[in-house]
Amino acid sequence: MRNVLAVGAHPDDVELGCGATLLAHAAAGDAVTVLVMTGGENGPGDSRRVAGRRAEQEQAARALGARLRWGGQTDCLVTADAATVRVVERTIEETGADLVYVHAPDDSHQDHRAVAAVTLSAARRLSRVLHYQSPSTLAFAPSVFVDVTAYLSGKLAALGAHASQVELSAMVEPDAVVASARHWGAQARIGYAEAFAPTRMVLDLAPVAPRRRATDAPATAPEAVPDAWRLAPARPLADTLR
Ligand SMILES: [Zn+2]
Repeated sequence: MRNVLAVGAHPDDVELGCGATLLAHAAAGDAVTVLVMTGGENGPGDSRRVAGRRAEQEQAARALGARLRWGGQTDCLVTADAATVRVVERTIEETGADLVYVHAPDDSHQDHRAVAAVTLSAARRLSRVLHYQSPSTLAFAPSVFVDVTAYLSGKLAALGAHASQVELSAMVEPDAVVASARHWGAQARIGYAEAFAPTRMVLDLAPVAPRRRATDAPATAPEAVPDAWRLAPARPLADTLR
């Protein structure tokens, strides 16, 4: 079982960036925690809608099968300082996280940049840190993909919980979510994918079948090399000059 932590600056950032992957983690029996650093006070809508944003995030976390933590920061004013690093560090310690998802560092939203920076500091001892894409991400060259074909509708359901943002923001369009997943899926030669740019990613090769005994013969021995592929011994130099 893995302990997974997904960090986002605002309500709906995590669902949009890696929601289907978190569903895949939950289905695999992993413990998933979502850390939302601000309450989204500057998102779209009037004060009543903004007040409901926390309840929406709580509903979205339930849809993902994730525990929810709040980072206690102010929307649009997140600073990449030691106190904010400590907020993420404390969550890593308390959850025992060994895999962290966070915003891509190159982003036009200052909160996204700050949250990526503080998470990189907080996760400096971890072996697995992956960056997800947001609508405001700038440069993004992913090389790690997760097959989310079975979880895309669940991601849309989790995003649907963020009614005040999804209805009012052109940044969160369900058809764009599906098109993006298909694009990354085509890049990864699978159906639908979420894409990640790693800061570090150690592959997990834990055996899925009972461990073989050391004395067992390999399941498939290497085939003998056909004669046509054998290297011809070099002829003596004297022969070639004759
Ligand atoms: Zn955001």
